[in-house]
Amino acid sequence: MRRKLAAGNWKMNGTQANLVEIGKLATAHGESAVDILICPPATLLHAATSYAPLKFGAQDCHMLPSGAHTGDISAAQIKDAGGSAVIVGHSERREAHEEHSEIVRAKARAAQAEGLMAIVCMGESAAQREAQNTLDIIGGQLAGSIPDNATGENLVVAYEPIWAIGTGLVPTLAQIGEVHDFIRARLERRFGAGVGRSVRILYGGSVKPDNAAEIFTVPNVDGALVGGASLTADAFSPIIKAL
Ligand code: 13P
Repeated sequence: MRRKLAAGNWKMNGTQANLVEIGKLATAHGESAVDILICPPATLLHAATSYAPLKFGAQDCHMLPSGAHTGDISAAQIKDAGGSAVIVGHSERREAHEEHSEIVRAKARAAQAEGLMAIVCMGESAAQREAQNTLDIIGGQLAGSIPDNATGENLVVAYEPIWAIGTGLVPTLAQIGEVHDFIRARLERRFGAGVGRSVRILYGGSVKPDNAAEIFTVPNVDGALVGGASLTADAFSPIIKAL
């Protein structure tokens, strides 16, 4: 059975003062039956890790372990700061930093080599969905972005349609189900049924307290990657409970 995962991506939001939200979540969900992961900005990662039993991760990593890469952080540094996961290939990085799937795969591999769980994001644009290319796009991103050594522990796939991120627009449950079933089938085909069925697939894009429960009824939705609604305990708590 796959353990459900509620993951929060704080993006470029939050300062020390916002750690109070993480404290509230740790108090409210100390005995949670689902995994709870917060990916705050790197500046807060180490401070956040004192709030057990929540888990923490970063929002990106470099593909190399160290070196002359100003402004980047490595998977080893994330682990050293107490992180256990890292998001790679978020559409905001694919777009703003021109990170194509080959780079994403190298980053995921670097994360896994350090024992971190790589949360590999993928998703289609509005134009790609309109042109009915969604499954082709996802298939290409899956094949290109995911390293060969995937396991249920070192990989999570996040389906995040670009047009649903931060917009309040959400695909229909049938649309979410179609993509998640497709991802599951591709994972099983590539890695075998054992590994393919053990990898968790998250939905992300405008998940809110009022739509989380119905999204979580969709087969092969093993949790959510939440942006805006993960920034406060008031908003994220009901999403965690809905799982
Ligand atoms: P929102 O939940 O704010 O739409 O963001 C989703 C996201 O991009 C999470 O990685």
